[in-house]
Formats: sequence, C-alpha cells, structure tokens
Amino acid sequence: METQSSGLEPGLYIVAGPIGNLGDLTPRAAEVLRLADVVAVEDTRVSARLLRHAGSDRPMIPYHDHSGENVRARLVDRMAGESVALLSDAGTPLISDPGYKLVRDARAAGRRIITLPGPSAAIAALTLSGLPTDRFLFMGFLPSKAKARGDSLDEVAGLRATLVFYESGPRLSESLSAMAAHLGDREAAVSREISKTFEETACGTLTELSARYADAPPKGEIVVTVGPPGEAAPASAEDADAALLEALTRLSVSKAAGEVAKKLGLDRRTLYDRATELKG
Ligand code: SAM
Repeated sequence: METQSSGLEPGLYIVAGPIGNLGDLTPRAAEVLRLADVVAVEDTRVSARLLRHAGSDRPMIPYHDHSGENVRARLVDRMAGESVALLSDAGTPLISDPGYKLVRDARAAGRRIITLPGPSAAIAALTLSGLPTDRFLFMGFLPSKAKARGDSLDEVAGLRATLVFYESGPRLSESLSAMAAHLGDREAAVSREISKTFEETACGTLTELSARYADAPPKGEIVVTVGPPGEAAPASAEDADAALLEALTRLSVSKAAGEVAKKLGLDRRTLYDRATELKG
C-alpha cells in the first residue's frame, strides 16, 4: 500500500465545483483541491482554470466512466494510500457527469468516500422556477431522437412531480413542443446561464416557451423545469349523462352509477338518482 503523502486522509473526495461563478467554490472544496494527491477531471484545460483559482498545483488525471476498467481500477488502488479528488467541468460530479462507476468501485473496495456538497444546475434551476419543489424528478438530458424522447416523456407523464431537464439551445424549442405534446401544456420555466452575467429565467406554458425560442435559439447552458400535471377539470353534466347512458346499456342502475362515479370522480348517490331518471 502506498503511503499517505498529503494532509488529507486517503480516500475519494467528490468535489462540487461552480456552475459559472467561480466565487461559488466552497472554501472546503478549495482546500481539498489544494491538498489532494491527485485530481481526477473530465477535461484538464477546463479544470486547470478552477485549480488556479483555488491556488492548487496538484496533478490532474483525465477520468470518464468510459475511461476503461484499468484507469478506474488504478484510481481505486491509489485511494488505499492517497487522496483522490474527483472534479467535473461544472457543478456536482455524477449529476449528468462522470463518477458513478468510480464511487461504485471505491465502495466495493471499502475505500473512504467523502462528498463536498456544492452547486448543481438542476437544484439551482428548481429554486428559480416558481414551480412546486416538494416532489421533483431529475430527468437529465432527453434522448435526441424523436421516438426515444417521446417514450421517455410518456413514461413520466402521469407523475405528480416537477420535472427537471438539462437542455441545449439548438434543441430547446423542439424539446419544449415535444414536452407539450407528451405531458400536456403545463407551466414551465427555462433557466439559462445561472450564476453568470447573462442569467435569465423565462416562465410560461410549454407552448408559449416553445414559440418564444423557435426563431431565436438561446445561447449558453439551459435547464428546463416543468410543473406537475394540473387537476383534471370536473366532468360536466353532459359527460355524466353520456357515460350513464352508455353504462345503462350493460349494467343495472346501481352498478352503472358506481362505475361512472369511479370513472369521473362524481358522487355515486347523485348519479344513482340521475340514472333512475334516465332509465325511466
Ligand atoms: N454536473 C453538472 C451539475 O451538477 O449541474 C451538470 C453537468 S451537465 C454535463 C451540463 C448541463 O448542465 C448543461 O448542458 C446545462 O443543461 C446544465 N448547466 C450547467 N451549468 C449551467 C448553468 N450555469 N446554467 C444553466 N444550466 C447549466
């Protein structure tokens, strides 16, 4: 086993970085970047800037989940006696970024794992959206092919939760109209360039937002948040009559009233009286 060479305990340090404003790097994250024996990064050029900002001169090593078993295995070996920091190009590692397989293998090998919480665009956008935050589902990037994208949306259309998507400018308008088609025309927000100079959040229905960006795809990094489905409009008297008349062709008054009450969410007793009238 290699000996510990820095002031940090050996293990894996998951370091959240800024999503734009370098001032959002936490003091604790900066300290780990200065002390780690090695920093595993997505892109050495991008991370070199953050390391400079943190006053770190630690060596970097490129890492992706598809880097190959041997790169990952070597890093996990090193964690036995050295401190390995994991850093993404932006925000929290593992959130639409590399790291999941490294954490999985480090855990299986019994390594010490420490996380340094910090910014993530998904959570930042959720806080800006004005949409319910009690239940939300992070959807990451939607597939780019229309069929796969529609299937992903259909899978979650019935969920009573705010949905959070990562998006890119050129795909934005098309994705928003696909969301309207598969989820219904819900309230939504488009947050762009969070914590940067041109930060903006636009709110509206999915079709309004799709129209807004159709001819002018926005620049920069984007998160789309979509509110949960609204309550269904209560069934009208005409809907109830039509459903009762159809049910009465198959069922007794009592059973027809029960079936329609369940289907339309209406009062069973009222429907029983109305079914009696209709039958008469
Ligand atoms: N790990 C990152 C996190 O914790 O948010 C996400 C990495 S993912 C590869 C990059 C995507 O995150 C971008 O395409 C965009 O959708 C979103 N994103 C990152 N920074 C952003 C920002 N400042 N404003 C809006 N969206 C951002």
